[in-house]
Formats: sequence, C-alpha cells, structure tokens
Amino acid sequence: MQQLGINLDKSLSKNGGDFINDNYIEELLKNSTEDKVRYREIFAKAQGNNPLTLEETAQLLAIKSPEGKEELFNAARELKKQIYGNRIVLFAPLYIGNYCVNNCAYCGFRKEASNTIRKTLSRDELIKEVTQLEDEGQKRLILVFGESPKYTPEYIAECTKIVYSVHSKNGAIRRVNINAAPLDIKGYQIVKSAGIGTYQVFQETYHKPTYSKYHPKNTIKGDYLWRLDAMDRAYEAGIDDMGIGALIGLYDWKFEVMGLVSHAIHLKEKYGVGPHTISFPRIQPATDMTTDLPYITSDEDFEKLVAIIRLSVPYTGMIMTARETKEIRNKVIDFGVSQIDAGTRLEIGGYQKPKDSQQALNEEQFQIGDTRKLEDVVYWLLQNDYIPSFCTSCYRAGRTGEHFMEFAIPGFIKKFCTPNALLTLVEYLEDYASEKTKIEGYRLINKELDQMPDSAYKQNIIKKIEQAKSGERDLRV
Ligand code: SAM
Ligand code: SF4
Repeated sequence: MQQLGINLDKSLSKNGGDFINDNYIEELLKNSTEDKVRYREIFAKAQGNNPLTLEETAQLLAIKSPEGKEELFNAARELKKQIYGNRIVLFAPLYIGNYCVNNCAYCGFRKEASNTIRKTLSRDELIKEVTQLEDEGQKRLILVFGESPKYTPEYIAECTKIVYSVHSKNGAIRRVNINAAPLDIKGYQIVKSAGIGTYQVFQETYHKPTYSKYHPKNTIKGDYLWRLDAMDRAYEAGIDDMGIGALIGLYDWKFEVMGLVSHAIHLKEKYGVGPHTISFPRIQPATDMTTDLPYITSDEDFEKLVAIIRLSVPYTGMIMTARETKEIRNKVIDFGVSQIDAGTRLEIGGYQKPKDSQQALNEEQFQIGDTRKLEDVVYWLLQNDYIPSFCTSCYRAGRTGEHFMEFAIPGFIKKFCTPNALLTLVEYLEDYASEKTKIEGYRLINKELDQMPDSAYKQNIIKKIEQAKSGERDLRV
C-alpha cells in the first residue's frame, strides 16, 4: 500500500493486537491508594529481579506521601545499584534528515512547520559529522530520521553502513541504533542486515483519544495500531533489540507509565524478550509549536516516573536524554537510568556548526536542556563515581539483549560489564580526555580495581588496561 508516497506492506503484519486496555488502566489508577504494607511488598518483589504487574505498578503510582516517596526513591536506587552497578553508557544522536510527511503537533519537523529549514545530510556531510563525533570520543550513535519517501529502509541501511565505515584516528562507531518511523517486516529485515543495534519507536502516547489529538488521522503516524505493532513486526523480522518510549507531557504521565509497562509485558509474554530500552522524553518547546500541552509533567513527578519504571521493568535499560537539564539528570540518574546522550546537537549537520546560530535553531527538532560537551559529561560522571562507558562488547560478541544477561546471570556485571566499561574508559582517557579528566578517570579505575578480589581474572583485566594504555584498541574480556 502507498500512503503519502511511502510504500508499506501492511498485509504481512501479524498484528500484535491492541494490548493497551484503556479502561483497565484507568480503573487501576482510580482505585489504587497508597498502602505502606503493600508497596513495601512490591519493592521487595522488584528487588528480587521480578517484573511487576500492572496492578502493582498502579500501587506504586498511588504513592503520594513524602515518606512513601523517599522509600520509593531508595528502593529504585537500591535496585539499580544491585543489578546494574555504577556504569552509565554514553551515546550521541545524529540527525540525518528532517523531511517529514507527518504532522505531529508537537514536533519541529512536522510537515506544516513552515519555519523549519529542511535538509538531509549528503554522504560527505554524514562522513564529516561522524568524523567529528569520533574525534570527540563517541562510540555509539543513534541515527534519527523524519518519515519521508526519501528515508527508505535501503537508505537507512546505507547510512548505517557509511557510519560504520568511517574511522578517524583511533575512532570508530561500534554501535549504530536507529530512531525512525515504524517499518513493515521487509523494511526491518533490510535495516537489520546493515548491522543495526536497537530499533527505537516511541508510541508518544498510549492514550488513544490523546493520540488522535496530536497525530492527524490522514497521516501515516495517525494509525495508532500500526505504531503500537511496530516492535512486534521488528521482532518478527528478526530484530530482538527493541526500544520503546512515550513522549511525556501529552497525557497524564501515570497513564503513560502503565502503557509502557503494558507494552513491556506484551513483548515479554509474546516473544520471551522484553524491550531492550525504555525512553521517557519530556516534551520540549519546538519550532512553530502552537499546540496546547495541558499535561506538562513537573520535575517532582518525573522523578517518580523514573523510579517507578525502574522497579516495574527491572531488566530493561533506561534512557534519559539531554532534553533534561543537568540538574534533573544529576538527580534522577541514581534511580535507574543506564544510558544518557552527551555532547548532543539536534540540528542537521549540527556537530560542525557554531552553536546558537539562527539557522541551527531552525533545523532543530526541539530545544535541549543539557548542552554540556561530552568531555564535561564524562568529568561529571567520574566525579560522582559513575563509570562512563562506551562499551559495545555484548553486541559485538553477538550477545544481543545484554540487559537480560546482566539481569539474569548472577555475576555477569562484575565479570563482563564493569571490566569492559573500564577498558572503553581507558581508550577515552588516552585518546580524547583533558589532563583533568584523565586524573579523575584513573582515580575511578583504580578504585574499581581495588574493589575486585585478587584473582587471575583481575590480573587479566589489569593486563588489558595496560595494553589499552599503550595503544591497543577494542579490547574486551
Ligand atoms: N520520525 C520518527 C518518529 O516520529 O518516530 C522518528 C524521529 S522523531 C524526530 C523522534 C522522537 O522525537 C519522537 O518519537 C518524539 O517522541 C520526539 N519528539 C518530537 N517532538 C518533540 C518535542 N517537541 N520535544 C521532545 N521530544 C520530541
Ligand atoms: Fe515527523 Fe517524527 Fe516529528 Fe512526527 S515526531 S513530525 S513523524 S519527525
């Protein structure tokens, strides 16, 4: 079928069905009240590595008292420490093109945003952007596309291959994730064959009347179920690395949490594999944005949202983007976030443009809250005893769905994740960091090594760190 110039074969889709039960979610949200005994049982269940049900999630969403919130934050902190340790994976978004046939009322790329300058990176520009990102020390990218006949699956696959082929000095992009429109099954197969990591599609809002309000029916994105089924089709096409998300601020954030948890439960029950990552971007002002947003979510509620998702879906990676300010990032990173972007530029070709030029602003999809450079984010993480990680070991060793392993295999993090994160940190410190960051980085590396019991395994890690220091790259245990 062709719609707005885009070919989509909807016939092959088995259709995941409508697994969002609006009435049940509303009922649970209405009827759940704060109950100390019950929420403590639920925290214990989550901390035993068990995903929560919708009913249990609603119980956590009902927590209001200061004492309850404190316990909630502590429970999320504890779970994150216990399961994931102190690594934070770093990545950067790379906007490839902002042509779009859709008209999402909140987005600076929407068809009717007349002040937006439309652009798609040429092959040369793409190579320059990737070179610049590699020269800053990035190893993981997410390529972002509007929905347009220009951005076919073949085109997305080609961009992915170009990114992997660029090697500046010691640099390399080792993992390319995608955030683009939902594809049909054949389309997903094409992008998978280019070696993508995660395919991300955000439902934006799980609440159907709100979905219709922001996504006109006569656009491709106006089809709620086609989008809801996006990850089912991806899985059927062989992609088991799926990223889901909701754009927080379109509807009641509590409903969106229930939607995200419903989605995770659906994928896990149907395919035995839940989402690889959950994103919860808060809506930001965008070019030509005229729409009303009556559900803007406060910082306080956002903190609760992060803690509750951490507890409800303990096996999943959680992404907090630079839409958030550094103050908010500082606060909620503790509650369970495992990935953040750093050094982010949203304009097309933005990694080479002077910041804040009017043209740059008109090519942005929305404004970001954390404008720090990668180096500053690395330094900040180190100072707070987080290991900035550029690790892609699992993916490169063919271990997809690594979060499940981290989660399911006792000792996996100590044995693989922490040492491999440290090795990528050494690469960063040697190749890209300032003296100040280097000192802070080796302080943390030594601290981490001191915490490891003496063993042949530890000696092997120390040996590899020395090899990395003397110039060997892409080492892993
Ligand atoms: N066009 C594809 C789509 O819509 O799925 C992918 C690219 S789109 C640029 C990526 C995401 O940006 C959207 O899924 C949406 O959640 C987010 N986004 C759009 N407008 C935003 C805004 N004003 N503030 C924050 N995030 C926004
Ligand atoms: Fe297009 Fe995606 Fe923006 Fe909607 S959110 S207007 S589909 S780029």
